[in-house]
Amino acid sequence: MLNQLTISELTAKLVKREASAREATQACLDQIQRVDGQIHAFLSHDAADALAQADAIDKAIAGGASLTEHPLLGVPIGIKDVLAVKGQPLNCASKILGKFISPYDATVIQKLRAAGAVVFGRLNMDEFAMGSSTENSAFGVTRNPWDTARIPGGSSGGSAAAVAADECIATLGTDTGGSIRQPAALCGCVGLKPTYGRVSRYGLVAFASSLDQIGPFTKDVRDTATLLEVMSGVDHRDSTSVPQPVPHYAAGLTGGIKGLKIGLPKEYMVGGLAPEVNQAVQEAVKQLQKLGAEVVEISLPHTDYAVATYYIIATAEASANLARFDGIRYGARVDGDDPISLYGNTRGAGFGPEVKRRIILGTYVLSSGYYDAYYLRAQKVRTLIRQDFLKAFEKVDVIVTPTTPTPAFKIGEKSDDPLQMYLSDIFTISCNLAGICGLSLPCGFTADPKLPIGLQLLGKPFGEETLLKVAHAYEQSTPWHQEKPAIKT
Ligand code: GLN
Repeated sequence: MLNQLTISELTAKLVKREASAREATQACLDQIQRVDGQIHAFLSHDAADALAQADAIDKAIAGGASLTEHPLLGVPIGIKDVLAVKGQPLNCASKILGKFISPYDATVIQKLRAAGAVVFGRLNMDEFAMGSSTENSAFGVTRNPWDTARIPGGSSGGSAAAVAADECIATLGTDTGGSIRQPAALCGCVGLKPTYGRVSRYGLVAFASSLDQIGPFTKDVRDTATLLEVMSGVDHRDSTSVPQPVPHYAAGLTGGIKGLKIGLPKEYMVGGLAPEVNQAVQEAVKQLQKLGAEVVEISLPHTDYAVATYYIIATAEASANLARFDGIRYGARVDGDDPISLYGNTRGAGFGPEVKRRIILGTYVLSSGYYDAYYLRAQKVRTLIRQDFLKAFEKVDVIVTPTTPTPAFKIGEKSDDPLQMYLSDIFTISCNLAGICGLSLPCGFTADPKLPIGLQLLGKPFGEETLLKVAHAYEQSTPWHQEKPAIKT
C-alpha cells in the first residue's frame, strides 16, 4: 500500500508514473479513516485541500517535474499543530486559540511546498509543546500504535504516531527539550532535532525561543536526510537562523563509518534506566564497533543539572512568549468588566494546568529578587553544559546514549506527578541547552509487550551529516526499522 512506503520508495514510483500523487494521498486518507479513531494522531485534516494539492502535483509530474528540483514530489507530509499553514487551523492543541486560522505559511511549509510535498493535517501534541506524553493536549490523548493503552511520547506525539501508523509518509514536529526524539523513540521511527539555527523558526509558535527547533519524523534515515535538506537554510525572517551552507545530506549516506570515534558518556548509563533499554543500547554500541567505529568513554560532568536548568530557562521563555495570548489579539476571548479581568478570564479558561504551571514558574524565576538566583544562574550552568559537549567533541565525532530511560509508559501513569514526567526527558534535554543536533532511531524492542526502544546520537553543531551517516550505517545493518505495529481496528 502506498501509505506504507518511505519518501524514496514513493517518489521513485511517482516519477515512473507507477502511481499518482492523488493515489498516495488517498491511501493516507484511507489509513486515517481506518486507524485514527484508535490512534487520534490528527486533530483535523482537510482532505479536499490535500487532494487538490496532489492533483496539482500530478499535473506537474505530467509536465516533466523532476526529483532533483522537487525531492518531495507528491509526498503527503503531516504537520504538528504548532506550525502555521496558510488557511488551516492553528491551535497548539490549546483552547485559547479558539477558531484561529493561519494567515500565512511558515518558512518550512513554503520549503516543503516548493519541494513538491502535499502538506496536510493538524497533528496532536501537548498544549503549546509542553509535555512528554501528549496527555496535555486540550483535545484528547494520542495513543501509541504499538500498544494503544500507552502514550506515544510528546510533545510531538501525533507526529510520531502518524508515521508509525502509516497515516503519513513523514511528518514535522518540534523539539525544545526532546519533543521529536522522545516520541520517535517510543513509536519506533526516526526523528531529528537539527542544530539551533539550522532550520528557520518563522511561523512556529514559540515555546522557548532559545531552545525550539523544527525537525522531521520519518520511517528511515535516508528520508530524514532528504527532508532535512529541504527544510534547512538561512531565512531573513528568523534572525537566529544561520547562513551555513546546506550539505546534500542524502548523498552523504555512503555506509562507511570506519575509524569514526563514538563517545559513550558515563553519566548517561545510570540508575532508572530500564534493563531492556540498557541492553538494546549496549548491543547497538557493539554493532557500531562491528561496523568499524571506535568507542571511547567520555564524561559530560554537568549532566545532573540539565533538567533543573531546562525547567528554569524554558519556563522563563514560555512565560514571556505566552503573554501574547490575552484574548485581545488572537483566538478565544472570555469577557470581563475591565481589561485586567478580561485577560484573567481568557487565560484562566483558555490555558490547561501544565501551561499555567509553567507560566507561573517562569514568571517567578524572572521576577526581581529571584532573577539572579535562578534565571541568571541557569544561564551560567547552560554554558557549562555546552562546554561539556564541545570538549567531548574534540575527542569524538558522535555521542551515543539511550533516547529515553524507559519504553512508552501507560496513559495516566505519570500524569499526576509532573516531576516524574519531567524526568522522562533526562537524556534529550542537554542537547537543546547546548544547541547541538540529535537524532533518535530504533534499536530494538522490549519483549512483552513489544515496544520500540530508541538510540540517540548527538552531533557537533552543524554536524548533521556525520550524525546521519552513523545512523544510516547502523540502520542498514539491523532489522528494526522494517517492523510495523499491528493496529487493531
Ligand atoms: N518534555 C519537555 C517539556 O515538557 C520537552 C518539550 C519539547 O521539547 N517541546 O518541556
